[in-house]
Amino acid sequence: MRTIAHFVDGKPYSGAGDRTAPVYDPATGAQQAQVLLASSADVDDVVASAVTAAAAWRNSSLAARQKVLFAARELIAARAPKIAEAITAEHGKVLSDAAGEVQRGLEVVEFACGIPHLLKGGFSEGVSTGVDVYSIRQPLGVVAVISPFNFPSMVPLWFVPVAIAAGNAVVLKPSEKDPTAAVLIAEAFADAGLPPGVLNVVHGDKEAVDRLLEHPDIKAVSFVGSTPIARYVYETGTRNGKRVQALGGAKNHMLVLPDADLDLAADAAVNAGFGSAGERCMAISALVAVDPIGDELVAKIKERIATLRTGDGRRGCDMGPLVTAAHRDKVASYVAAGAEAGADVVVDGRDVTPDADGEGFFLGPTLIDNVTPSMSVYTDEIFGPVLSVVRVPSYEAGLDLINSNPYGNGTAIFTNDGGAARRFQYEVEVGMVGVNVPIPVPMAYYSFGGWKASLFGDSHAHGAEGVHFFTRGKVVTSRWLDPSHGGLNLGFPQHT
Ligand code: NAD
Repeated sequence: MRTIAHFVDGKPYSGAGDRTAPVYDPATGAQQAQVLLASSADVDDVVASAVTAAAAWRNSSLAARQKVLFAARELIAARAPKIAEAITAEHGKVLSDAAGEVQRGLEVVEFACGIPHLLKGGFSEGVSTGVDVYSIRQPLGVVAVISPFNFPSMVPLWFVPVAIAAGNAVVLKPSEKDPTAAVLIAEAFADAGLPPGVLNVVHGDKEAVDRLLEHPDIKAVSFVGSTPIARYVYETGTRNGKRVQALGGAKNHMLVLPDADLDLAADAAVNAGFGSAGERCMAISALVAVDPIGDELVAKIKERIATLRTGDGRRGCDMGPLVTAAHRDKVASYVAAGAEAGADVVVDGRDVTPDADGEGFFLGPTLIDNVTPSMSVYTDEIFGPVLSVVRVPSYEAGLDLINSNPYGNGTAIFTNDGGAARRFQYEVEVGMVGVNVPIPVPMAYYSFGGWKASLFGDSHAHGAEGVHFFTRGKVVTSRWLDPSHGGLNLGFPQHT
């Protein structure tokens, strides 16, 4: 059995831990490798080498860091097909979708190439006689990035390029379910000239995460995953004095007003509901149809689902498998619970015949109509290819439903009424909003993040907030002596 090792100090590292986890090919159901799970002692070793690397990296010039980032950008772009293949093999999403996430991650590398501009401070000359004040932002030291299974390359790349560009060293702990993409990215940075130890990948589970959360040399933690773990990481990390941004789960609503272009809305609902088998934190899982368009919209979505091909992501299918058998079974149980609670299962993905060999973890696209807000298929984040339709009498009722939901990651309104769209973006309590755009993932130069139970902490990912998160501000007040000494004065400094 192939073993996937950690990547530390610019090379593979096995550590002393003896635990492993299986890595499956979700399209065939076969175990294809095992990944090492770091022990606490392994984490300590990795952090120690990152501390050494961080001290030297901090001294590198902005020009030197920028050069590495530009080179990494070229290498990741050249290796994107290989990274996408690894993602499809371990995660299951179709190849084109895997390539898409690498591209979105690459955009953050491109953003970080502008670090000399992004780190510019302010300068005020002559705030008092002979006194100047200026602000600078300095790196934190060693930071941890802990990422989920569903975007094995994009989520690490939301943080890693910005953290490195700002002068930090990084310990990246990817999901143990699909660990290879993180190693390929770290290799690309190493080949681009990043000094050993500045970007390390340590595989592991709760033991590794807990050690990172308590390690005194980890200064900040960027986490992305489910809400219960995000809350735990935020509370534990901050209790240990760390800066933490912890992005959690989601339940994203798409509100369709009666004046919307229903063909556009149906296309969008299918793309955003079933892309990556619904395993996206920005997937649409609740379609909120304002009366009287429910029947027509459901019919259009049903027609489109009939054209989708589910199967092995390497075979040009539209939708791949779920990540594990256990997850597939859990998602399928929500379909059963919805039917039992009285919702109408319009398309049942449990009946799918996938285009794949073996016993892959498949569930076909599923459409459930007449879902009510008390059903588990609505209340829970399902994270699978299940689109629930909730019917509401008015815009106000739809807005209330969205704002009453504990999550606030993404949402979208579909309408041709500019005034309604404008009102929605003003009133809705969600961090990322689309107007006739179902998956409004911000560009790298804006910041990604939700509200409420979808993000714990103050900073969103990448963009200006990312730069802010990975640096701390310092303000310097300097006085270069001129002959006008003021003499002794024990009063509070005032400006003259
Ligand atoms: P997860 O919470 O199970 O795992 C995330 C990370 O935490 C992994 O690295 C995992 O090894 C680690 N982990 C798991 N259990 C842990 C524990 N008990 N203690 C400490 N660490 C633990 O999430 P997942 O299943 O890998 O990813 C899917 C979830 O991530 C979904 O809820 C999805 O909405 C969310 N997500 C959110 C965003 C966002 O931007 N808000 C983006 C992507 C994914």
